[in-house]
Amino acid sequence: MNFIDTLKLRSKLFSIFIILSISLLLIGIMGAININSMKKKFDALYFGSFVPVNELNIILQTYHDNLGTAYKAKEMKIPLDEIRSEIKLSVERIENEWKSYKSHFKRDEEIAYVEYVSGEIKNTNDFFLNIYTALDSADDIKNLPFDKIEKRVTDVHKVIKKLINYEIDLAKYERKNFLLIYDSSLYKIGTFLLIIIFGVMVISYYVLKSIQSDQNALEIASKKLKIANKRLESASYTDSLTSLHNRRYFNMVYEREIKRAKRNYTYITFMMLDIDYFKQYNDTYGHVKGDVALKSVASVFKELLKRPGDFVFRLGGEEFGILLTDTSEVNTITTAQNICNAVKELKIEHEASKIDTFLTISIGVACCVADSALDEEVLINKADEMLYSAKEGGRNRYSVTTHVSVATPLKLEEIA
Ligand code: GH3
Ligand code: MG
Ligand code: MG
Repeated sequence: MNFIDTLKLRSKLFSIFIILSISLLLIGIMGAININSMKKKFDALYFGSFVPVNELNIILQTYHDNLGTAYKAKEMKIPLDEIRSEIKLSVERIENEWKSYKSHFKRDEEIAYVEYVSGEIKNTNDFFLNIYTALDSADDIKNLPFDKIEKRVTDVHKVIKKLINYEIDLAKYERKNFLLIYDSSLYKIGTFLLIIIFGVMVISYYVLKSIQSDQNALEIASKKLKIANKRLESASYTDSLTSLHNRRYFNMVYEREIKRAKRNYTYITFMMLDIDYFKQYNDTYGHVKGDVALKSVASVFKELLKRPGDFVFRLGGEEFGILLTDTSEVNTITTAQNICNAVKELKIEHEASKIDTFLTISIGVACCVADSALDEEVLINKADEMLYSAKEGGRNRYSVTTHVSVATPLKLEEIA
């Protein structure tokens, strides 16, 4: 993956990150707004209904206690001062609770009734204060207008009770409203969340798809590169004229194959081949024809040496090298002979040759079992020596030696 692709991938992942962050932020803001509005509603429900009802109940209870005080006073002869201070305290308490009740938010349609109740409470309070402050002695208590007191309390009870019922109905209404808002908020957040999750999934899908396609393109590009590299590599190991392996490849393969043969203790053969009187051929027929002849000779090698363990190299000019692995000396000699015959069989006219009318080749062969004592340089040198010997011996022939490795010379009688 190159730098540009890495950048693209980073920006794509970064965009997913940004989208996710924004989405979470939006969910957070929306959740906060909804929770805040629910908090207000809940607050309104609690302080707008529960507390006022509580205050009104206290007022009611206090009125009943006042009535109770009057009876208690009648029965138990409580001292007058105590009764007065109790009544005073109760009235103050009622006034405070009523003040507190009135301070809550009131709807327009409630105001008139609240004012009416306000008047009723004030009248009732004045009534209580008046009748109790008017008392001179404890004996007067017996003469209190209990029926009037009772009626007063019953009347104010009815008025306040109506307010309490109203507040309770309001609370029920608010509760219903609150639950509706709660459900709709939940629905809104859920829907919003689903939309965001879906959106992120869709965007992620496209981003991942694009990453995948980038990766595919990258894989295709790297495959193409590998093929191009292989071609380049094979071109760098191939001789352009004959398409045989070149000297570079020879340098690589030769050592490797000798080592392998040594490991397996198998036969190894190296042949040095050189076209006979090729200088004269070029001189007679020209360089172009010389090249054509080189190609034809190379095609003979390719035709005869097809095993995976056979390697043919153009070592330079009109000199070739052949490496045979796991091939007995008998087969090696047969191969050398076949090559000589096949080159001659090409019937490439060579009037300047001193030994034949056609183009011929000479081969030096070194063959042995690769033991630990085998020296790779020696194998080449021996093949070279044998080539020299073939040339000396009259050309168009091969010369062979099996005395390559000092450890295990082959039995020459087998070769003949
Ligand atoms: P010998 O039998 O002793 O080998 O005689 P020779 O003439 O072949 O002698 P030598 O091997 O020294 O000659 C090599 C000649 O091969 C020299 C050059 O004209 C020719 N040659 C080398 N490379 C090429 C090539 O790429 N194309 C052509 N056409 N000729 C080449
Ligand atoms: Mg030569
Ligand atoms: Mg030659």
